[in-house]
Amino acid sequence: MISHPLAEFLQGLFHVYRTFFDHDAVFRLLKTDFAPFTREEVDRLENYCLEYGIQGAAWLRDVWTYGGEGDEERRAVMQDLHRRVLEYLRPIYDFCKLSHTGQEWSEFLFQTMQDWRIPEQLKHWYDEAEDRGDVQESASHVQIYKHAIQLLEECASVTGTEELNAEEMGLIIEEGLSEVTYSLVPPSLDHVTITTIDRSYMTDAKEVYVLGLNEGVFPRKMGDEGILRDQERTALAKVGVQLAAGALGQMFNENFLFYLACTRASQGLHLSYVTSDEEGSKMEPSLVVRRLQQYGYVKTIEEAPLSMPEGREQDYLWRPSQSLGLFSSRMSALMKGDPISSTWWSLYNWGLEMGYRGEVFFATRGMFDSNTVPRIEQSIVRGLLLRSDALTGSVTRLERYHRCPYSFYAQYALRLAPRKVKSFGAPEIGTFLHDTLRYLGEYLLEQGRQWRDLTEEEQESLCREAADAVMGTEERDAYEAQLYTRLTSTLSATVARLVDWSKKSEFSTTEIEQSFGMGTSNWRPVRIPLGKNYGESIVLRGQIDRVDEYRGPLGHYAAVIDYKSGGTTVRADEIYYGLKLQLMTYLLALEKNTQDRIGTAAALYTYVRNPQVKLSEVVNHRRAEEEKATIQELKNSGYFVDGDVLQSLDVTRAYQSNSPYVPIVLKKDGTPDSRTSKSLKTMEQFGLMKEYTKQIISNSGTQMMDGEFPISPYQKDKRRPCEYCEFQALCRFDGTRNRYRYIKTMTEEEALEKMEALQTGGATYEMD
Ligand code: SF4
Repeated sequence: MISHPLAEFLQGLFHVYRTFFDHDAVFRLLKTDFAPFTREEVDRLENYCLEYGIQGAAWLRDVWTYGGEGDEERRAVMQDLHRRVLEYLRPIYDFCKLSHTGQEWSEFLFQTMQDWRIPEQLKHWYDEAEDRGDVQESASHVQIYKHAIQLLEECASVTGTEELNAEEMGLIIEEGLSEVTYSLVPPSLDHVTITTIDRSYMTDAKEVYVLGLNEGVFPRKMGDEGILRDQERTALAKVGVQLAAGALGQMFNENFLFYLACTRASQGLHLSYVTSDEEGSKMEPSLVVRRLQQYGYVKTIEEAPLSMPEGREQDYLWRPSQSLGLFSSRMSALMKGDPISSTWWSLYNWGLEMGYRGEVFFATRGMFDSNTVPRIEQSIVRGLLLRSDALTGSVTRLERYHRCPYSFYAQYALRLAPRKVKSFGAPEIGTFLHDTLRYLGEYLLEQGRQWRDLTEEEQESLCREAADAVMGTEERDAYEAQLYTRLTSTLSATVARLVDWSKKSEFSTTEIEQSFGMGTSNWRPVRIPLGKNYGESIVLRGQIDRVDEYRGPLGHYAAVIDYKSGGTTVRADEIYYGLKLQLMTYLLALEKNTQDRIGTAAALYTYVRNPQVKLSEVVNHRRAEEEKATIQELKNSGYFVDGDVLQSLDVTRAYQSNSPYVPIVLKKDGTPDSRTSKSLKTMEQFGLMKEYTKQIISNSGTQMMDGEFPISPYQKDKRRPCEYCEFQALCRFDGTRNRYRYIKTMTEEEALEKMEALQTGGATYEMD
């Protein structure tokens, strides 16, 4: 009974108070359907609260000011809903703040039940259940109400003038309701009663079935005796301290329950046990079964096969719905084209003729169900994806298309999105660090300074200033304060690295958050014509976190840099498969907007992290910083040009073999070590990767225009996009009917060769 809405309601009242308007507690109460709001209203309010993180004290505020401009209409609706909900919740909260006698609590709870019109709602549910002929449900509504009233009366009379606070009263209600169970009068003389073993003594029956008689399961194996041993419990009982039964007592009890269950049968007793568990491990019958066998009480032992044995299907057909339900289990055989017993065809025809068309359809629908995505009509694709005669979007979208075309379609064409929940997880942390670095970068550019010009004191104060500007300076709770400290410390560590790198580099930051093709940006988008005589293009827009430039005796070079708080890296095979196109697209944007006047020096990720350094000895701060600089997680990754300019990106490379900023290890003879040299690319190889990127972008745009959005997630090594995909429930990817698009890992050379082959027309692009 504890899960009946009324039991939920009575406990929920105290839960809301105890947790001080915790989100789950409030909505658990509202979803009991006693509140005079529609389910839709409650759902909309819940979404709003999740989106803006509304809980706790926010519920007691008279005015809600969440949401920005353009959200006024929704805000007004939610504000009104909040006011109406609070009219019901505030009296409960105010009453719970003080202690009251049991009588007062009972009267209050009784009155609250009337205010929420609970008797009327229960009557309504009762009538509905009666109309459906659901005796069990209709009885449950009557019984729970009676029990609740009885509980309140007992509470009023037992506690007398003693005052109880909300915590104590909540506990009494919880305990009182947990004891209550339904007692249902069997609806007819010829019936089956399913009951728990401890209630079975109340029932006499012709045939009794006792299930689950496995060793250790029933009678249950008692573990250790707990804090008190049985001997100690006995000693305490002797001096008048009565405790719950110990392990020995419980064991006797279990055996006694088994004895009682067995003695309920007047004609036949059937005992059952399983021979293996869900994982296929062997399970033994219980000792009591073996003992009954030894005494010769067991007449027959029957083994029930896991599946229906051939030729005995008819034994399993008892009632129309149940039999047609079994029909669905034969679907897989039918779908494979295997022959199935004529019994099933007879059942199928009989169901259709005898008015069970609905059940037959339900049982066989699995046969016709498919999640194959048909080719989307071009007019629909144009309507959904084309803007001013071009497919527009960011490179991240394209990468999504290559991870799984259907997930792209769901997110960017159908524009489906999970409901927003205010949280501060990895994506929000990444955004925060990104925004603070932009704040600092813009500050430097405005001042005409470089990272290297920042003193240590300035770094500290600027980091705090940036964090306050991004996070706000309102009062922070303990969690937010801790988060603030952690994030500013990551920011400070990152800024220290950027300053150090800048001091060692002859490059200077010239652009921060340089957007291309967006809003009023002075950089044009990357526009690539589609294939197959489509007149349209694909237009890529985006934002480059940072561009550093070198102007000196070696020429004019630039490095595009992307900040990453995760562990993203790039490999040529990932470019080949379209999974990592970001850095090459940034180079294309740079090339386009500088008329190819600037040479490429690097396209790389630099990390915004503050990982732990594990050392076996105590070291000072300076040494810890040095150690940190050597750890792999903080080393820049991406591609560097194989040329003299590399020296200018980190001048210490001349005398240090291992630089965190240009992590290409040099051997004694000055040549790069083979393990790290894969990040080194010639100008021609950079050119090849950029050209290939254009080609794959054009190809994917063409496939989109063709309406190709199959459910086709890739699998590379053990990585699959489905693990973090929000559209699993929509696509219903299922290993038995769908397949992963397996793509093989290639070395840098292999991937570049493949790209080259495609460039020269010697091979075709492999999407599948
Ligand atoms: S769950 Fe997997 S198959 Fe389904 S849409 Fe997402 S990535 Fe594609």
